[in-house]
Amino acid sequence: MSNYVGAIDQGTTSTRFIIFDHAGKIISQAQKEHRQIYPQPGWVEHDPLEILNNSNEVVGAALARANLSGSDLRAVGITNQRETTVLWDRHSAEPLAPAIVWMDTRTDQLMRRFLQKREHSWFREKTGLPLTTYFSALKLLWLLENVPGARRKAEQGDALFGNINTWLAWNLTGGKDGGLHITDVSNASRTLLMDLQRCSWDEELLAEFGIPAACLPQIVSSGEVYGEIRSAPLRGTVLAGMLGDQQAALVGQTCFAPGEAKNTYGTGCFLLMNTGMEAVHSKAGLLSTVAYRFGDEPTHYALEGSIAIAGALVQWLRDNLHFFDLAEQIEALARSVPDNGDVYLVPAFAGLYAPYWREDARGVIAGLTRFATKAHVARAALEATAYQVRDVVEAMELDSGIRLRALRSDGGMVVNELLMQFQADMLAVPVQRPRIVETTALGSAYAAGLATGLWQSTEDLRANWGVDHVWKPQMEESDRARLVHSWKKAVERSFAWVE
Ligand code: ADP
Repeated sequence: MSNYVGAIDQGTTSTRFIIFDHAGKIISQAQKEHRQIYPQPGWVEHDPLEILNNSNEVVGAALARANLSGSDLRAVGITNQRETTVLWDRHSAEPLAPAIVWMDTRTDQLMRRFLQKREHSWFREKTGLPLTTYFSALKLLWLLENVPGARRKAEQGDALFGNINTWLAWNLTGGKDGGLHITDVSNASRTLLMDLQRCSWDEELLAEFGIPAACLPQIVSSGEVYGEIRSAPLRGTVLAGMLGDQQAALVGQTCFAPGEAKNTYGTGCFLLMNTGMEAVHSKAGLLSTVAYRFGDEPTHYALEGSIAIAGALVQWLRDNLHFFDLAEQIEALARSVPDNGDVYLVPAFAGLYAPYWREDARGVIAGLTRFATKAHVARAALEATAYQVRDVVEAMELDSGIRLRALRSDGGMVVNELLMQFQADMLAVPVQRPRIVETTALGSAYAAGLATGLWQSTEDLRANWGVDHVWKPQMEESDRARLVHSWKKAVERSFAWVE
């Protein structure tokens, strides 16, 4: 039987397909970006059909590069941008509307409506999450209320809800000719509709939001053979893993023991700490979420600090302010000055997520003087990611009582040496980059490979993890304290902008 596993990594900005071997080594890969659609301020959409087509395209390209076909893969796993919401017609296979992306804030009015009746704590107790625009429930409700005919179709089971994993899984396993309508526990835990203890849809929440159960997928584990893939180019193999992208990175970084944590620097930034078989309820502004459940094994939970805007700020400087042509050029620009020149940039474009949860915040650049240049702003943008991560680590240590000894990092921004060094300086602990940085795809490949016997246990997987590079803290404590103090002042300046 084949020793290759494929992973479809459907991220916020692009879709990748990566084929791994038993050692976690990349055999072949392909990647394609998709359009980011911004119809009005606060709205962010994707086209589900474009994502599906891109997924098929990158699968075909990666297979062709390695001269393999679907049947040469032992199994395939999916990992995906979480919370992003798709509603489609089960008979035509057409989406009823564009996908509402996780960072979209169009549901803020809806959110206020529910918060008049219920406290955040009511939602947190059941789901581990506060009620915000970020999670899927309000996005789905928005579609049901605003797309003509959607509610009726959803009630009759003619319209299906899913996050991107569900959309892809349904299409891969047969689509309108009997595709599986499934989601895994890690993705389901981000909908705000799942009871975190029981890992099933919560009747009270469905009633509260007025969401018909008929449109919801079945909740399954993160690693088991769900079914055969029936569409080209993956026909001949099985779908056997699904994990939300951040949980997949946790698995890819082999953080299987309580207290082990990773941070992924992509469009946003997400720090997850494994808390074992116990869902720890946060008092410091973090989320409690499902980490993974492999087959019949117990569910593992995580504490999560989510940051909406990290690499997206680099894209914004590139695309909206035309500071540079390529994201990687930010580093040279930022290095052209010795420090931030006392400039701070708080990228609260979608409000602030963890640990603040301020929907009313919007972006600010603070500390500007006649001295400040483009380079200072670029530096402030990179530093903003490190400060935000520091805020989250502080909350994580409060909630877990565990002091971080080192941070395992991954994601598109970890090639940025300036950022990584500054991160180590801000945390005062070493930042590690593993040998295999495609941890998100790797995590879902691990899930699929565990389900099909390529690996016997999570212990087997640890052997594949190793450090490629470590950044050690070099900054004096007094300098760190001064910078953090100014950052916190800038964060406060971003609050209460939206009234
Ligand atoms: P996602 O999975 O969320 O789509 P990735 O992990 O692929 O994101 O990371 C892409 C992000 O990393 C983009 O937002 C981009 O701006 C940022 N990025 C890429 N290269 C660099 C770099 N050299 N320095 C800083 N940011 C970068």
